[in-house]
Amino acid sequence: MVKHITDEFDTIAAISTPAGEGALHIVRMSGDDALKIIDKVYKQGSKKISEQPSHTINYGHIVDPRNQQILDEVMVSVMRAPKTYTREDVVEINCHGGIVVVNQILQLLLREGARLAEPGEFTKRAFLNGRIDLSQAEAVIDIIKAKTNQSLNVATQQLEGRLSKQIREIRQIIFDTLGEVEVNIDYPEYDDVEEVTSQKIEDCALKVKEKIEFLLATAQQGKILRDGLSTAIIGRPNVGKSSLLNELLQEDKAIVTEIEGTTRDVIEEYVNVSGVPLKLIDTAGIRDTDDVVEQIGVEKSRQALESADLILLLLNQSEPLTEDDIELLEETKGMNRFVLLNKNDLPTEIDLEQVQSYLEPDEQAYSISVQQHEGIELIGRLISERYFNGQVGDRDATYISNVRHIALLEQAEQAMDDVLNAVHSGMPVDLIQIDLTRSWELLGEIIGESVQDELLNQLFSQFCLGK
Ligand code: GDP
Repeated sequence: MVKHITDEFDTIAAISTPAGEGALHIVRMSGDDALKIIDKVYKQGSKKISEQPSHTINYGHIVDPRNQQILDEVMVSVMRAPKTYTREDVVEINCHGGIVVVNQILQLLLREGARLAEPGEFTKRAFLNGRIDLSQAEAVIDIIKAKTNQSLNVATQQLEGRLSKQIREIRQIIFDTLGEVEVNIDYPEYDDVEEVTSQKIEDCALKVKEKIEFLLATAQQGKILRDGLSTAIIGRPNVGKSSLLNELLQEDKAIVTEIEGTTRDVIEEYVNVSGVPLKLIDTAGIRDTDDVVEQIGVEKSRQALESADLILLLLNQSEPLTEDDIELLEETKGMNRFVLLNKNDLPTEIDLEQVQSYLEPDEQAYSISVQQHEGIELIGRLISERYFNGQVGDRDATYISNVRHIALLEQAEQAMDDVLNAVHSGMPVDLIQIDLTRSWELLGEIIGESVQDELLNQLFSQFCLGK
């Protein structure tokens, strides 16, 4: 872990709240000179703020030392190292929420010796000073960017260090084996030392592979929890798509976000169905049902299919199957879909055998009635079973959701395969050690041991300013 070398870290400052007017703004400062700088610009009677106890919030004024002009009435938190976000001395100024005032305060700090922080630099320091590891720092970005409750959960667990703990455990297994191999090579007590060593390496590789695979198996689920399962509701006009959409939206009173895309058409809505966040595609199109021209026909449905991970194909079971239905059934064959026979409160007119003939052998169509509120629960259960074995968002599970982590785990697993192949083909142990070590290093990159500066800069630049 990188140690804090005092003269490498200057004192940084930034506005930590979103740009614009608000009730409050916060200017944050971190570094060895943070207290010295705030002393110069903060007045609270005759007391110096640097003499206040740590982790206190203090009422006073920011005053320009050049002309004694009061800039704002503020509350200033003083937090001394090491128990702070960055592990350095941290000062946070809560000021009034105007754009001019907050900028003036920041300018003042910069004039008195602070440097403007880069995006994510506070969190980067928390990492460089050893308070959190890299996967935890990445979790901070995910927490800020979380769009659903579930993705927030995944990120919070990662911040707690659950993933880091598992990665450390896997690395320890490799490390121990490397140690034993070293000893065996240097002090061969038995004649069969080669054989014993190979066996140890093989055991290690198999164990590590199993653990990596276990983590990778959560990747698809982690991604769904993090980004939502892109879901398209399709079907010819009048089968009940917008009714189903409304039902889904009602089911989840707390829709997390509604993001306007670049065109009026593309609106993404998140709904929570049995704990699985669905990102519903093209909900604007579905809503436009009054306008006959705009009704979602086969063409529109086809467009929605392209970006969908899951398709809910609606048929109307109170009418015979039409050409359009058949076209959609054929088009979505082999895709991840559920075929739903809506309007089961009405007499059945659809030919069920005919429907079945368009399904895969292990597939079935499910009968629902959106109008009678029958089916949402079923849809939730089907999704939860298909993607989560019926156990969504298990609080004890660690989900891998970050593509960087997935790629490194896959490479580490590949290195373990190379180890196994080498053992089986009787390669010399010192060559096998190279692959073992590579795997250990790749896993280390996940938690930020042995990472390049360039990568760090790229990762932290994704943060907002002042974080
Ligand atoms: P869309 O064109 O596919 O979006 O279909 P809509 O959701 O607009 O539904 C078309 C019509 O079917 C509306 O009058 C709905 O009230 C009705 N409808 C939807 N679901 C059901 C159902 O389960 N049973 C019955 N009887 N009518 C339904």
